Formats: sequence, C-alpha cells, structure tokens
Amino acid sequence: MLRFTELFTNTDARPASRSAGAVAGTTAEAPRSARSSRRGVGKAVVASVLAGAFLVGGQPLVAGAAEGDTPENFVEVQEGAGSVLPAFYDNPARGLTSLVNETKAEADRLAAEEAAAAEAAARPDFVKPAEGTFTSGFGGRWGTTHYGVDIANVIGTPVVAATEGTVINAGPATGFGQWVRVQAPDGTITVYGHVESFTAAVGQKVAAGDQIATIGNRGQSTGPHLHFEVQVGGQKIDPQPWLAERGITLQ
Ligand SMILES: [Zn+2]
Repeated sequence: MLRFTELFTNTDARPASRSAGAVAGTTAEAPRSARSSRRGVGKAVVASVLAGAFLVGGQPLVAGAAEGDTPENFVEVQEGAGSVLPAFYDNPARGLTSLVNETKAEADRLAAEEAAAAEAAARPDFVKPAEGTFTSGFGGRWGTTHYGVDIANVIGTPVVAATEGTVINAGPATGFGQWVRVQAPDGTITVYGHVESFTAAVGQKVAAGDQIATIGNRGQSTGPHLHFEVQVGGQKIDPQPWLAERGITLQ
C-alpha cells in the first residue's frame, strides 16, 4: 500500500527551486520512471495534486507537460486522481463555497427567527395608550358620568393600542368625533376617542403599542386629549385600576 509520507518525500526530494514548469515536468516524468508500478501512478497523482492549478479535467495546461506520456498513462493518472481526490477535484472552491453559503443562509434564518421571537417576548402585553397629562378620571363629572380617563397632549401625539387585538371600529363616532376601538383576544374592548386621525383599519390585527391614531380635539371635547375607555363583558369599567393591574400608571 502506498503511503502519503513516501509520496511527499519522493516529490519533495526534487530540487527546491521548483517552478510551475518543473512541477508540470514531474507530472510527465513520473509515469516514465515507473511505467507499470503502482508507486509510479501514485507519484503522478501527487504531482497532479501539486500541479492542480494547472489541470482542467485531467488535461495539463502547461505546454510540454504531456511529453513522453502515453494515453494509457493518462488514463491511469485520472483513475488514481478520481479515487484519491474528493468530488470537487475539478474546482475545489465550488463545492465548498456552495456548502458555506447554504450553511450561512440557514444560520441567518435561525438568527432572524430567534431575534423575532426575542422581540415578541420583550414586547409588553399592555401599553399606556398615549403620553400626556392625566386630566380626568372615571366617574361622576359635571352632573353626568365620565366613562373613561382623559390624557391631554398636543394634537398629533401618537395614540397606541393598549392591548393586542383586532380593530373593530375606526371612524366617526357621536360625541367622540372620531374613534378607534380594539377588541382583545379575551373580549376586552378598549376605546380611543376624539382622535384627530386614525391609521388603523377595521379588521386589522394590532399588537400592544402599535400606533392606531393621533390625539385630537374632535367631538364634545374642551381641549386636545385622548379619551380612553375599557369595556369588560359589555360594562365600561374604570380604566385606572385596570391599567394599574397591568403595570401602567397614568399619573
Ligand atoms: Zn373623556
């Protein structure tokens, strides 16, 4: 059995000042020096590996490299090369590059999935519907009942969904001028009134924190603010404790 140390020793024993031409010369010389021995074929194979840059499909590109070879020798060398070298012999970079690219694409896909999952997990389930000044609470006011809380801020301030859910209203509403309503998966409905504009559409799925509208002064309003209501089981409840239970304070 042929040993690689022997092969390289044999090859390396040649003059140190070997040039490309000299390597190619080795290819031609090897079969001649050991016509019918396996050792000769092996030497030719190693020479072919060393001179791989100059070979395409087993044919030498350097002029004169095939001098002295017979067709039989070439067949022997090619068979030897085929059994020793991996599949990407013709183009060592091709198979490897493809594998690297596929691996990288898979890694990128997994990383993107993980990032999306981490972002979703990091998102709060409940969000304060608007930044601003808490100006009015739930309950009796001016001889009537105020069924929500008011958060005052300048017109155009973002209004975001306090919960995830589905937009069930987005448009004109008596008293509110315009409103948006979002129904959470558990049936809870949040109401956003007096809005200047709305960017959510009926049927749209929203996550808590998604902007759905902007603060306005429409309808029966005495100044730019968001009127925010929470309805559970068809009942309008005080949003303050409901928000507080979910880690959100208004004042
Ligand atoms: Zn109000």
